[in-house]
Amino acid sequence: MQKVGFFRSIHVKFVLIYVMLILIAMQIIGLYFASELEETLKKNFTQSIDDRMNMMEFSVREEMNNGKFTDDPKALEESLKNVLNGFTSEDINETRVINSKYTVLATSVLENRSMIGQVSKDEIIRKSLTSESPADTIRLDNKGYRIWVRAMPITSGKEVIGTLYVESDIEKVFTQIDEVNEILAVGTAVSLTITVILGIFIAQTMTRPISDMRRHAQAMAKGNYSQKVHVYGNDEMGQLAIAFNHLTNQLQESQSTTESERRKLASVLENMTDGVIATDRKGRVSLINDSALSMLRMTRDIVLNRPISSILGVEQEYDFEDLIQINDSIALDFSTVERPYILRATFSVTQRETGFVNGLIVVLHDNTEQEKIDMERREFVSNVSHELRTPLTTMRSYLEALAEGAWKNEEIAPAFLHVTQTETERMIRLVNDLLKLSRMDSRDYDLNKEWVEFNHFFNSIIDRFDFSKSQDVRFQRLLPSTDLFVEIDTDKMTQVIDNIISNALKYSPNGGNVRFGITVSDQFINVMISDDGMGIPKENVKRIFDRFYRADRARSRAMGGTGLGLAIAREMVMAHGGDIWAESEEGRGTTIFFTLPFEQQEDGEWD
Ligand code: ATP
Ligand code: MG
Repeated sequence: MQKVGFFRSIHVKFVLIYVMLILIAMQIIGLYFASELEETLKKNFTQSIDDRMNMMEFSVREEMNNGKFTDDPKALEESLKNVLNGFTSEDINETRVINSKYTVLATSVLENRSMIGQVSKDEIIRKSLTSESPADTIRLDNKGYRIWVRAMPITSGKEVIGTLYVESDIEKVFTQIDEVNEILAVGTAVSLTITVILGIFIAQTMTRPISDMRRHAQAMAKGNYSQKVHVYGNDEMGQLAIAFNHLTNQLQESQSTTESERRKLASVLENMTDGVIATDRKGRVSLINDSALSMLRMTRDIVLNRPISSILGVEQEYDFEDLIQINDSIALDFSTVERPYILRATFSVTQRETGFVNGLIVVLHDNTEQEKIDMERREFVSNVSHELRTPLTTMRSYLEALAEGAWKNEEIAPAFLHVTQTETERMIRLVNDLLKLSRMDSRDYDLNKEWVEFNHFFNSIIDRFDFSKSQDVRFQRLLPSTDLFVEIDTDKMTQVIDNIISNALKYSPNGGNVRFGITVSDQFINVMISDDGMGIPKENVKRIFDRFYRADRARSRAMGGTGLGLAIAREMVMAHGGDIWAESEEGRGTTIFFTLPFEQQEDGEWD
């Protein structure tokens, strides 16, 4: 989780806000206080100067009125000086008396005596005389100190006879104000420092529960529910901490319920024989169980997050939208030449109550066996109908020809009748073969087993073919001289051997040798019948035991074959507990092997 920067932390914010507020408050107080103080001090100062000036004005007016009658300016100056000196004090720098013609009559400062008799150009003086009212201002003296100058007109009766000019030392007031301001500033700094320190502690008590909760929330996000937030008090923070702890408990409980449900679901999914795939709402695989992986022959990391249609190999036919619409199931054909492999996929959409599609669940079921059976059944029915239709159409055309008058022709009629007869026989043979197979399929048969000596039994069948064979074929017998007693159903075994030998003759159009052999192993006798005939293409060797299979349809049909002979032979050998197989090379010949269970007789057992 993200770390909170120092200046962004709530703790620092608290302290900053706190300090700012105090600073603003103190600033306002300080400003108000300083300006009020300045105002009051100035007012007091000017008031006291003003009061004295009023008294001075009275005395000066008296002197001036008395001096009107003397022509001696010196005497007037002297008397005025005495009056002014009577008012000297620390805060008054200089006092001057100026007459209405702007001429300086007297000054309290000795060094400035030179200006007596001069015309004053001072603005304040001129202003007070012209406006006939007091004027004042603050200005700097030649040492750079602030002074307050005031000129007060001296009126006798209604006539202004001059003005009283006073320079007072106001700098002291400003120094006082500065000192007070300094004290205020120091006070502010000290109190701020103290409040900052206090603020840090106070803010800590407020933010500690918050940072506690933050830490615990981070731990919870990582799945650690064991810790509890400390409850510091019963204020809002305390209540929040209690609520937080309660929430943690609830979350932990629901988390563990979800987890156990998840585990249950996972174990159900993993132990299912059917494959299950789930997708997200965009059709990408989000979950797949092991059965589905092994059915699709893929690994989990390849499959996850890939589109479902490409995983199922149907991207050409269906996109995700189409798959959602499928209410039924579809067959997925992964068959190869060697191995049929068909999966059935059933789809169901996961939806919210609003109808919003959340994803798709696909259940895969290995349907190969079922599909194979279905296919075989369809093939079988079509084969049977085809096999029956061919002789029937042949017969119909011959019978039609006979009916239309061919019966009268003594030369053709017997030949036509012969054809219909052989076709009928073929059909009967076919139906009999089918009956045999169907009985064997439904296990509705008994083996009439008896003990026979196999060498003798085998020889007698070979003899029968040897006598009746029409081709130029030589029989070679490689049979053991010892007696081999086996328990077999002689009728059925005769059919097996008959079919194998007749095949060997049928499919050896150019003659050659037919070899018969028997070898004996521990528990089986191994019978071999081999020819030098046309052979069977390698890829079809296994299929010759399938029903209706014929390597060369036209040829074997011409030979009157139905393609059921070896299928029946296989069923019969299997029923005896043996096995049958073929080896062949195209153009070179074929060998059929079959085994029969055999128990080696101990010598002298019958003695
Ligand atoms: P049926 O035996 O019912 O009269 P069929 O001989 O055609 O008819 P199967 O005996 O089952 O049927 O033989 C199946 C096919 O196997 C034959 O059609 C033939 O193509 C092939 N086949 C069987 N034996 C040989 C053989 N010895 N040499 C060459 N091909 C053979
Ligand atoms: Mg045959």
